Amino acid sequence: MSLVDRQKILDILNKYDKKDITIATLGSHTSLHILKGAKEEGFRTAVVCEKGREVPYQRFGVADEFILVDKFSDIVNEDVQQKLRDLNCIIVPHGSFIAYAGLDRVESEFYVPMFGNRSILRWEAERDLERKLLLASDIRIPKKFESSADIDRTVMVKFPGARGGKGYFVAASPEEFDKKIINMIDREWITEDDIEKAHIEEYVSGCNYCIHFFYSALKDEVEVLGMDSRFESNIDGVTRIPAKDQLELALDPSYVITGNHPVVIRESLLPQVFDIGDNLVEAAKELVKPGMNGPFCLQTLCTDNLEIVVFEMSARIDGGTNTFMHASAYSYIMFGEFMSMGRRIAREIKNAVEEDKLEVVIT
Ligand code: AMP
Repeated sequence: MSLVDRQKILDILNKYDKKDITIATLGSHTSLHILKGAKEEGFRTAVVCEKGREVPYQRFGVADEFILVDKFSDIVNEDVQQKLRDLNCIIVPHGSFIAYAGLDRVESEFYVPMFGNRSILRWEAERDLERKLLLASDIRIPKKFESSADIDRTVMVKFPGARGGKGYFVAASPEEFDKKIINMIDREWITEDDIEKAHIEEYVSGCNYCIHFFYSALKDEVEVLGMDSRFESNIDGVTRIPAKDQLELALDPSYVITGNHPVVIRESLLPQVFDIGDNLVEAAKELVKPGMNGPFCLQTLCTDNLEIVVFEMSARIDGGTNTFMHASAYSYIMFGEFMSMGRRIAREIKNAVEEDKLEVVIT
């Protein structure tokens, strides 16, 4: 599989009328504020949408152009790509876009200029690459256990793929690991094949902060634009039951994300927050050229000794940015106006057009 030819992408970009750029994305995930933010910055907007799911984009009035497809994965079809290029589109990738289009096809077949570094998307998708980048960034991450036989403390067991935490479990010994694996198979939450792919890591007891950064390649600066925490089912429900009743109910906790809420972190922790963002950007410059570009998110747990531990990374806009479709406490302090992550992306594209540096922010 060969990756998209950068020169071909630049040739496409060169043919675009830079005064008539459209910002486009797939109608799902964070598209409402991506499109709204683009309009606020004066761009035309386009949404690629599965037939029948266009209603929110019509009713909220965020899309100027609708490209309706039978299924979301059709966004990589040649006719859809052509329509996008005809509109001078810059695509903003998000989690659902990658899931539906398929990472392989985004990397090798999708010839529409894309905001950000498309090569880094694989680094969030593959756990080993993600760990490599976080370790190179000198960021504190949970200790990894190579085998269930080595479990000597409470661990969290995860499985590959975006399944919203379904099938994850907590165990404190090799025996408990074996028992819970069988239980998960019986429930058909995991398959026999998943067992050897189980990722076992130290359970970090702390509060959840998902930190939404924006790295401006134009300014070479990391911004903290917002933070959210997650509502997870059924673990959040389980914790509302007194401990003695939890035992009797024998509920197995799961970590399926169902929503997000905005949070702020203790002000004295902000230096640590900026440090981990800066460190990741520096390491990415070395490992995944041209490095981080635009939004990224570090999902963290903050322990009672005030250490921020990163257990997951998104190398593109994260769903938790929906908590600040208008502004977050941090984006307001930074910009003094309504600033969503979507609008920040559009602002970067606008600045790049004005400085004639669009090639710096797209791949
Ligand atoms: P993930 O799929 O990695 O985003 O994890 C889903 C959820 O599991 C997180 O939002 C946390 O609530 C929890 N979690 C993940 N990793 C850990 C860990 N190492 N220690 C404690 N909780 C974790």
